[in-house]
Order: sequence, then structure tokens, then C-alpha cells
Amino acid sequence: LMQLSIPLNFIGFIYREIRQGLTDIEQMFDLLDVDAEVKDKPDAPDLHVRDGTVEFHDVKFAYDRQRPILKGISFKVPAGKSVAIVGPSGAGKSTISRLLYRFYDVQDGAITIDGQDVRDVTQKSLRASIGMVPQDTVLFNDTIRYNIRYGRPTATKEEVEKAAEMAQIGDFIQSLPDGYDSMVGERGLKLSGGEKQRVAIARTILKAPPIQVLDEATSALDTATEQEIQQALDYVSEGRTTLVIAHRLSTVIGCDEIIVLRDGMIAERGTHTRLMSIEDGLYASMWARQSEAIEAERRLREARETD
Ligand code: ADP
Ligand code: MG
Repeated sequence: LMQLSIPLNFIGFIYREIRQGLTDIEQMFDLLDVDAEVKDKPDAPDLHVRDGTVEFHDVKFAYDRQRPILKGISFKVPAGKSVAIVGPSGAGKSTISRLLYRFYDVQDGAITIDGQDVRDVTQKSLRASIGMVPQDTVLFNDTIRYNIRYGRPTATKEEVEKAAEMAQIGDFIQSLPDGYDSMVGERGLKLSGGEKQRVAIARTILKAPPIQVLDEATSALDTATEQEIQQALDYVSEGRTTLVIAHRLSTVIGCDEIIVLRDGMIAERGTHTRLMSIEDGLYASMWARQSEAIEAERRLREARETD
């Protein structure tokens, strides 16, 4: 029973993360198409992305004034580099991505892209420049082809299929009786979390935005699927400014900078090697816990298989 408590806690953590993902940005915009929180300024110009440098300047934010969520966050994602945000559930990681997409406005400080405050440019141009792979993707009740093409409605049949292959989902789609014309979504074929995430990745490959935000939810997946998704994610991040919200720490090792968020503040920052060298550090202890949980899960699976 002692051994069981680790993986069960871990699964609870994953479950909450995924539930939170359901309220994530892309779906909110896609499904509701309402936006009461933020408005374009009169005559706001479009965002002009030159090289795609993203900067948070002492950003403060609260959903409810009584309870600050981000308490002064500053970081920079240089053009073409990748920065990871890690930290306990509820730390404010997804909030950072929502603010970048301007789902909400910051209460203090600023977020800029190539020096332009996201509040000063049109939301349409801002969102066209950012690719979002949310924690969980809701598919439209339509064909899988439509769902992928949504990333760039003018894409050709060949481009859609190429993107699916790059997202490691092409073979799966071809194995379906109706192939790319298979209906998915609530009333169609139910795809697994990993398959849906790969559809979202394929969309982003088609969209080819200069800035990428990946809110990963790969921890709930088996190792083989996770590795495939990781390859697809590495592919989309290549040469693009990428902000990765990472649940599984193995995915952040190669990032240019890792930011450890705790209670709305940056507790630690640096490369993987540097953070691992901090004695009793938060990042190092997260690694220790995650390795234990993965090991415990593996033992549990082995025990089940031998039953
Ligand atoms: P993380 O992604 O690090 O798990 P989030 O950024 O999603 O955390 O959330 C940070 C905190 O803000 C949490 O305590 C969460 O409950 C709260 N929160 C998230 N979304 C909302 C919202 N729409 N309204 C009020 N509180 C929210
Ligand atoms: Mg989150």
C-alpha cells in the first residue's frame, strides 16, 4: 500500500492538469468565439514579427484581485530559442501562456513581442503569430482532415498529409477505414489524448507560426507514445521561439533556459545542469520525485503484467 500511494498521487496530479487544460485558450476561442476580457485599442496596428523575441517584464496578474497569481515575472525567450516553465500544479504556468495569447491583460508590467506590447496590437495578428498546443485538444465534429487543415485552411491535401506524418499520426490515420475522411470529435471516432495532441501538433506544423507555446500533457502517456510526440514537438520547435510548459521534466533537458515557478514567483532559473547542481533545489527535488513516481508506476505495471 505504501508503494501504491506514489503513483496514485501522481495520477491525480496528471488528472487535474488535464482538467485544467480543458479550459485552455484555443478551445475557448474556437468554441465560444467571445472575448469580453480584452479589447483592441482603437486603430491598433498589427503585430509585426521580425525575429520573434518574447519578453515578460515584471508581469503581475490575478484572476481575482484578492489572490495574486503572478507576482512579478521577468524572462526573455530570445528569437528561435526555447524556454521551459516548470513547477508545481497551480503555480501559474498555464496563466503565463494565457497572458501571452492575451486571453487576459496583465495588471502590472508588460509582455512584448519584438518590442511591441501585446496590448497595443490587434488580437487577430497576435494570435496568428502564436501556435498553441494546449494540454488537451477538443476536436471539431468533422473529418480528421478538416481538423488538421484548421491550422491553415488554404493548405492542400498533400500539405495536410505531410503535416500529419511529421506529427507522427499519418500511419494511424491511414489505418482507419475512411483514412483522412474519418469523422472524429464527440459524435465520431474517439481519439486518445496522445492522438488528439498529435492532431494539434499537425495543425501547428501547418500554421508554421514564428512563436510556439506547448502546454504539454505527455506525462499521462506511455513512454513510446511520449517519445513519438516529443519528436514531433522537437520538430515544430526547431528554429522557432518556443515556450514549453513542461510536466514531464525529461522534455526540458535541452531547453536554453528552464524557469521554475512556485507561488507565482521564479524560484530558480538556469540550464538543466545548473539547476540540478543546486543542493536541495526545487528543480532537483522535482526530478527526484518524478523519477520515483515513474519507477513506482513501472513496478506497478510489471506487477500487473505478471498477475
Ligand atoms: P498551472 O498551469 O501552473 O498548474 P494555472 O496557471 O493554470 O496553474 O493556475 C494558477 C492558479 O490560478 C491556480 O490556483 C488556479 O486555480 C487559478 N486559476 C486558473 N484559471 C483561473 C480562472 N479562470 N479563474 C480563477 N482562477 C484561476
Ligand atoms: Mg497548467
